Amino acid sequence: MRQNFDLNDLYNGNLKVLDDLTSNVKQIQDDLLKEILTLNAETEYLQRFLHGSSDKELFKTNLPVVTYEDVRPYIDRVANGEPFDVLSAMPITGLNLSSGTSGGKQKRLPLNDKYLKNMRFIYDIRSLIISKHVDGVEQGKGLMFLFTRPESKTSSGLLTTIVSTTFFKSKYFKDRPSYWYNSFTSPDEVFWCLDNKQGLYCHFLCGLVQRDDVVRVGALFSSLLIRAFTFLENNWRELCSNIRSGQVSTWVTDPSCRESVSKILRGPNPELADFIEEKCSQKSWQGIIRQLWPNAKFIESVFTGQMAQYVPTLEFYSNKLPLVSTTYGASESFFGVNVNPLCKPQDVTYTFMPNISYFEFLHIDEGNNNEIVELANVKLGHYYAPVVTTFAGLYRYKVDDILEVTGFHNNAPQFRFARRKNVVLSIQTEATTEDDLLNAVTNAKLVLESTDLMLMDFTSYADISTAPGHYVLYWELKTKNFNNNNLTTKLDEKVFAECCYVVEESLDPLYRKERTKDGTIGALEIRVVQNGTFDALMDFFISRGGSISQYKTPVGIKSSDALAVLENKVLARFFSIKSPPLDP
Ligand code: AMP
Repeated sequence: MRQNFDLNDLYNGNLKVLDDLTSNVKQIQDDLLKEILTLNAETEYLQRFLHGSSDKELFKTNLPVVTYEDVRPYIDRVANGEPFDVLSAMPITGLNLSSGTSGGKQKRLPLNDKYLKNMRFIYDIRSLIISKHVDGVEQGKGLMFLFTRPESKTSSGLLTTIVSTTFFKSKYFKDRPSYWYNSFTSPDEVFWCLDNKQGLYCHFLCGLVQRDDVVRVGALFSSLLIRAFTFLENNWRELCSNIRSGQVSTWVTDPSCRESVSKILRGPNPELADFIEEKCSQKSWQGIIRQLWPNAKFIESVFTGQMAQYVPTLEFYSNKLPLVSTTYGASESFFGVNVNPLCKPQDVTYTFMPNISYFEFLHIDEGNNNEIVELANVKLGHYYAPVVTTFAGLYRYKVDDILEVTGFHNNAPQFRFARRKNVVLSIQTEATTEDDLLNAVTNAKLVLESTDLMLMDFTSYADISTAPGHYVLYWELKTKNFNNNNLTTKLDEKVFAECCYVVEESLDPLYRKERTKDGTIGALEIRVVQNGTFDALMDFFISRGGSISQYKTPVGIKSSDALAVLENKVLARFFSIKSPPLDP
């Protein structure tokens, strides 16, 4: 059907396909929708709305835009053993666990072979794009912190895990083509190691031993890079001792990981150990990445959206190597690639690839609520939430991201990732929304009821300057007894530790898992600020162009100038002293 582009070009290492895809957006998208609707016309879901038709106009009038909660009953039915054609004509081969939260739970999205093929296409095309922009990248190796995690099975035997795990274990990754800048310092066995600590340790060991070969350092999301370098700070001595002796530490017990990494170590290397020791024992780690990997040309990860907060730290570690965001994708579908990979992190845009899924966009600018347009019709400067129709059984499914159209590559729209709808705090993969936080603080306020204190206002901040990062809440309090307004005499450590605990206990299961089980989030902190602080904060925002009549205290703060307003007025700090339960 689709004649406007030939993926064989790509498979032959030719980037012409990028031009073809981005020049024929409307036709490719129309053909793709036709293909999806024809293929899936007999599914229970589409039958309900289209009664066997594959007509685009009927699709537009009859198919509702849905959220996860709307399709969840269908997905659950497939998960529980009903035939996949409830949703999809192509076999559903597994379920992708998303990191995004919906009412605090990870979503399960249908996965099929086409999804993995699309993922491979995205990896293929981004390899070629990077090769075009960065000389010699194919000749070196990548120190990429890639991990897999254990899979589980639904009652009917469908594999459930995060999609990168499925991909790394699939033939699409294992048989990666020669034109990929495909070689990694770590053997595949390290990617497949299910123990994250052993995996991370081995990634570093392999990356350090082959330091001259490393041309790029990266991870899927940049939060992980921060975690990796904190790990290096704590473990470089042991890594050096392994390099010096040529022996992997005995606690690395995963047999295939151990065996494959031992081969890479190839015996004692005291000179290298001395060199790394000298670099890592410096007082400042500014530029440590360039020092340890002198041929690294860029850092590859996601630096947009929630991940933008990690840019300054990585710029510090890398002494401003280019930070390259390559891809925008989700468990629902992949979306687009960055065709200008060396641009600044704040200028990154993603060009949607029209051959992946059928993309529509829900207008979210004021006055245009609920208008839905197709990919070829989005307007420059406007904000949209993507709505996808996929080959795996999602039809007009709204993704909770907000994107701004910032330009076009040929006639394919390019989007800046503006924000994830409503998320105010995120340190690892958890995503705490305004509602989650407001609810948690409301619960904690009950603890204050037994005291003379009232919570007047609050805001929050994800503090990643500590290792691990942790949530900070700024609380402004007043005494109920106005005659005795000396706050500092009233701040009972026990009460505030309990408040911290109640907030954590009320946050979603993923937060509690990362905090309690994984230890990747630290104890929540409440910083009590002086009276008047939130007025000063409001003045600050108004002085920056805010409107007093519509002013609302932001539930989360990102701007360092705004944080400074709060930090100057901190009276006391309290931490949670016990971890929240995994299942309250
Ligand atoms: P998940 O469903 O767990 O795969 O997470 C997908 C979500 O991660 C997306 O909906 C975005 O909110 C976020 N995400 C993925 N790629 C990017 C990116 N390049 N920039 C910003 N956020 C991203």
